[in-house]
Formats: sequence, structure tokens, C-alpha cells
Amino acid sequence: MSVSELAGAIIESPTLRLNEEARLLRERGEPVIHLGIGEPKNKTPITAILSSAAKLSQGDVKYCPSDGLPSLKKAIIRYTEEAYDKVVAPENVIVSSGAKQAIFNVLYTLLNPQDEVIILAPYWVSYPEMVKMVYGVPVIVTPEDGSFHPRMADIERAVSSSTKAIIVNSPNNPSGVVYREAFIAEIVEFCERKKIYLIMDDIYHKLVFDGRAAPPCYRFTTKPLEDSRLIVINGIAKLYGMTGFRIGWCVAPRRIVSVINNVQAQTTSCASPVMQAGAEGALLGLQSFVESLRLTIQNNRDVVMRELGSFNGVKTQKPDGTFYCLPDFRAYSQDSVELSGFLLKKALVVTVPGREFGMEGHLRLSFAGTVKDVTEGIARIKWALDPTSPNDIYIGDKRLIRDWR
Ligand code: PMP
Repeated sequence: MSVSELAGAIIESPTLRLNEEARLLRERGEPVIHLGIGEPKNKTPITAILSSAAKLSQGDVKYCPSDGLPSLKKAIIRYTEEAYDKVVAPENVIVSSGAKQAIFNVLYTLLNPQDEVIILAPYWVSYPEMVKMVYGVPVIVTPEDGSFHPRMADIERAVSSSTKAIIVNSPNNPSGVVYREAFIAEIVEFCERKKIYLIMDDIYHKLVFDGRAAPPCYRFTTKPLEDSRLIVINGIAKLYGMTGFRIGWCVAPRRIVSVINNVQAQTTSCASPVMQAGAEGALLGLQSFVESLRLTIQNNRDVVMRELGSFNGVKTQKPDGTFYCLPDFRAYSQDSVELSGFLLKKALVVTVPGREFGMEGHLRLSFAGTVKDVTEGIARIKWALDPTSPNDIYIGDKRLIRDWR
């Protein structure tokens, strides 16, 4: 069998692989706790269900405009105005099959072969792979001060004449850090001055804790959208816990949206109208849903911080948003892939190795699940790693004894 060098070099999505491993273990009856997955446990908002069901029951599910159902685009325009205080036109919006596809389309649209894209570590696993898929070169910038917050000085050093875009994801997957307002202001100004595209992956922008808010890039631009370099990605997956609907979107200058539209028309025709109707139902429904989801996750964050706080040697930065944290486990292992595998085998807990996010020695823990799972998951990790914790633990109805180290 021969596949292209490029396709053969693309790594498997580690989070989707871990999901599959967890599913197989559960199928075998193993009491696995999944701290790897990035999706909340909530039920789909009823307005989304009804809206999708209405579309289906008409029995008329056909192609729709490739840039999205006009009614959904209208709801996205309203959302953009409410969330960002930014008025955009229908020609600035394109709906895709998830934020993932929206980001891929943007990169495909912007990059020539060998163009560079700056990616800020810790980063979402898919960015470097997507850049490579369109023959671009990912340039990873890691904060030299050991924090999870990028610094302009490091970014400026990494920019070259081939830099086409910078991807910013705040609140950040995997660290949960919300980038400071001064940083967003600086990077918007820098990108506009250097004519570099700024791709803001805002998929978690409403999942922020303690009364804070993620500063939107639009606040700092001096240019009208058509002359700006700002591209904002969003979606319903994290906002409403509607990961399986696969609807995301992109807001950008018209000339970019129209090229993305050609790309999308030739590859997918359009995102499923049934799912688009669901997204519209969610966007137009009661928004208290988002707030109650946010409060649940914030409570989970507090539980995680408390549990990790009692863990000898593990250092954790408190997440300001998302449903992830990225504790430093270097006191126990330098090799996060090995450590994650060990925890799955011995403690039946799924974690994601930090190496996948450009932060070796760390593990990403998701607290999107139930408080019970989060508490028990961390207790199991502690039992497996911390020699000062009690020697035995119950996993399901099995009593396990720690007989290593
Ligand atoms: N961006 C980031 C930072 C994410 O974490 C995710 C999902 N894990 C996505 C984009 C993709 O979102 P969607 O499910 O809408 O494709």
C-alpha cells in the first residue's frame, strides 16, 4: 500500500485515539474514568433538538448554500454583535462542519507552500498537523519563562518574511489560560502592522471563570473588518456542549470568505442542514443554558484545583477558562506519553500526554465530566503516583494494592 508522504506523516489525533481506547476498555467492563475528553456531559438544548427535528420531519433535507443556511448566518451575525459588539455582513460569515473544518479551510485559503504559521505552545494538537496538510510550516513559539502565557518578544523573534499567520487560542486548550488584554492588543497591532493574518480560535471564549472575560481581538483593531487581518473562529461544540452536531464558523473579510466558500463548495458542498438548524435553535434559544454550563464547569475546576492541591510534587496553574488544566508531573516522570499509558493501565484513568500539546512532562486533564469522575480520577492518579498516599484503593468493586516503587 502506498500513501502520499504528506498524508503518511500526519499523526493520529491523540484525543480521538484515547477516546477509542477508553471506549474499548469500557466495552470490556473496565471502570475507566475519562479525563481526556473535551466535551461536557450536558444534554443538547431543547431548542436545538426541536429545530433539527423540525428540519428532518419536513422530509426535505437537501443541499443548502455552501456558506451556510441564511437563517443560521443571521443568528451568527446576531451572536457576533452580542458577544463582540461587532456588526458583520452575511458575506463575512461562513458555516463549516465544526470549528476544525473552519480552521483547516482558513489555512488552506491563506497559505502557499512553505509559508509559516506561528503556533503558541501549549497549543491545540491539530494546528501543526493542519498547517503541514496544506504544505505550510508550523513555527512553534514556547514561552521561555516556563509559563503558559505567550510573550510578544518571543513571537517577534520567530516571525520571518515567510510568516503568513499567527494562531491564537484563548481561553487556551490545553492550559485553560486566558491571555491578557494587553497581549491581545499588542498582537492585533503587530499583525496589522506586519500584514500577518491573526487567526483567533475563540471556541472557548464564553467558558471563562470568576467573572473574567476573554478580551476579543475586535476591540483593538483600528481598521474596518474588510481592511483588517482578523479571522475569528467559533462554534457550538463547546458553547452548548453540542460536539456531535459538527457546526462551526468563521468570520473574516469578504474576499477571504468568498475563497473559503469556493474551497468548501468543492470539498464538502455544505455542512448538514439538519445540524445547521440545530445550531440555529441553540443560538436563538435561552442563553441561560450557556451560563449554567459555565457554572457547572467552574465548580468542576474548583474541585480539580482542590484535589490536585493535595498532590505532592504536582504543580498546577489555575485555569481561567475552558475545561482543561495542564499540571506539571515532572516530579514523577519526564515522559508524558509513558506516564499517561501507565495511568491508563494501572489506574484506568485516561489523560492526554502534554507532549501532544508541546509541553512535555505535563498531562492535560479535562474536567468537563461529572464531579464524581473528576474527584475519583484524580484520587486514582494520586494513588498510582504518590508514595505517601494510602497503598490500596477500590476501583469499581476491586481492591487494588500499589506494588510498584
Ligand atoms: N479549537 C480548539 C482549541 C478545540 O479544542 C477544538 C475541539 N477540541 C476545536 C477547535 C474544534 O471544534 P469543533 O468540535 O467545532 O470542530
